[in-house]
Amino acid sequence: MSRSGNTFDAIVIGAGHNGLVAAARLARAGRRVLVLEARDAPGGASATSEIVPGYAAPAVAHLVDAFPKRIERALKLAKHGLRYAARDIPTVALDPDGGHVLLPRNRREFSRFAKRLPRDAEAYRDYAADLHTQAALIAPLLGDIPPDLREPEVLRKFCRRLVWRGEISGGSTLQKLMRRLPESIGDRLDAEFESPLLKGALAFDATLGGGEGPYAPGTSFRAVWREALRMQGQGLRQIAGGPGALIRALIAIVSAGGGELRLNAAVERIFIENGVAAGVELLDGTLLRAPLVLSAINPRVTLLELAGAQCVETHQALELSRAPRPGTTAKLNLALERAPLFTGLAAELHGARLLIAPSLQEVDEAAAACNEGRLTSAPVLELHMPSVADPALAPEGHQILSVIVHSAPHEVEGGWPMRREGFVQKVVRRIASFAPGIEEAMIAGEILTPPDIELKYGLAGGDWHQGDLRLDRLLAFRPAPGFSRYETPLAGLYLCGAGNHPGGGVTGLPGWIAAGAAIDKMEAGR
Ligand SMILES: Cc1cc2nc3c(=O)[nH]c(=O)nc-3n(C[C@H](O)[C@H](O)[C@H](O)COP(=O)(O)OP(=O)(O)OC[C@H]3O[C@@H](n4cnc5c(N)ncnc54)[C@H](O)[C@@H]3O)c2cc1C
Repeated sequence: MSRSGNTFDAIVIGAGHNGLVAAARLARAGRRVLVLEARDAPGGASATSEIVPGYAAPAVAHLVDAFPKRIERALKLAKHGLRYAARDIPTVALDPDGGHVLLPRNRREFSRFAKRLPRDAEAYRDYAADLHTQAALIAPLLGDIPPDLREPEVLRKFCRRLVWRGEISGGSTLQKLMRRLPESIGDRLDAEFESPLLKGALAFDATLGGGEGPYAPGTSFRAVWREALRMQGQGLRQIAGGPGALIRALIAIVSAGGGELRLNAAVERIFIENGVAAGVELLDGTLLRAPLVLSAINPRVTLLELAGAQCVETHQALELSRAPRPGTTAKLNLALERAPLFTGLAAELHGARLLIAPSLQEVDEAAAACNEGRLTSAPVLELHMPSVADPALAPEGHQILSVIVHSAPHEVEGGWPMRREGFVQKVVRRIASFAPGIEEAMIAGEILTPPDIELKYGLAGGDWHQGDLRLDRLLAFRPAPGFSRYETPLAGLYLCGAGNHPGGGVTGLPGWIAAGAAIDKMEAGR
């Protein structure tokens, strides 16, 4: 292929982790890739940001649990600098009275758990086993291209495989999975457990990143989906140097393969020649050519705004334009001059993932308030102190506290400029009710509401999944029926961001699978 300064083998739109994983896969397959990023820094929601000089925080996403070993190995990410500061990080449900509950990862922890919650111990063992068996049934579907439901033979094969897998994992597994599909996690937890603290933590996990409350139909299956996604990964981990270090490693792979990353390069249009994608036009009018374009940004924006609705059928345009719910998670990053003292929390758990979701009711109330555009008086939170395992993130003895606020509305009554300060105070007061005195240790902080996350880090709508992860937006229906195989009706254009199967999270999967599909297609066409 002839190449000039503005001609490439492939162009990737968006330097979030998925765009970069796709670019790295293409680069390692010998393609000359150009990655275009609208912002002045790469990473999207997977970035490390300096709160104030000397204090580096995970800007938006803070932990990884579903980034597959096979991607890490195939890209040789360790050789390009990826390290983990902590692995197999425990999750602790914080109790207002200090009787915290560590969600058990092994037998020893299970005996402690059983002493703390004797009436729920057996039910929890059954719950965890049930979740695992059902997740194992669908896990193989998450790391691959979903079936195309328009092809009856493919659909038949898919169903046969599912039934077969269900049978070998015990006759009733598939049946139980079907029961989970419409069920709410709230109903399930109410039926199976007594402890409000345990129910709160499990409801938090099943609903984090989606807009629904715990009593919404389908949220029980969300817990299964999340577990299946985790099975792709290697346990809950913290990247040394923050998520930005993953981004640097991916860029190094792209560069080593002769590829390039351009910042401040917002794509305004995908241009079409002879009915196929032929390149992109930037906001400043620059034309860049490539026979292959992969978009890691929102699928709706890609197809309807950048490529133009003429490249899809009317019914497809309608499906894509059905407005997805905007993001419902906010982020607070705090620089602290000393470690906060969580009442009753053992020192060895300071680096754990800490949940403030003391009851199912509070998770439900936070979601209800969020849906009505209100701020709940008792925010539900996920806390992590990355500087415990990675002291280089802050000056000696100082700490970073990274806080995900679940159920924060995209649009709030009175508007965010009016509500921002009160929101921060509510979140800090809530943390202080578990870690008294934390306010006095605060040096600086950064709050990111869902609109801030979109504006500052480019995550469409500030949404964890770049588009709802509801039941009707999974597998062959993600991002919309007819688009689930990453390839689009416009030849040469592929989708590769979190809006596609299997959804959001720092998994690299949409980017990896989409690039594989594009490479296979190119090789088949030779
Ligand atoms: C508050 C919050 C906390 C989270 N925490 C976690 C966590 O702890 N663990 C986890 O696994 N997941 C977490 N997530 C989810 C995770 O961050 C996202 O699902 C993931 O980062 C999406 O990656 P992506 O590469 O698909 O998209 P993005 O990260 O959104 O990247 C898209 C990129 O495209 C760029 N772009 C957009 N438009 C254009 C254009 N026209 N031209 C060029 N470039 C463009 C953007 O600037 C951006 O850099 C969290 C999400 C939120 C909102």
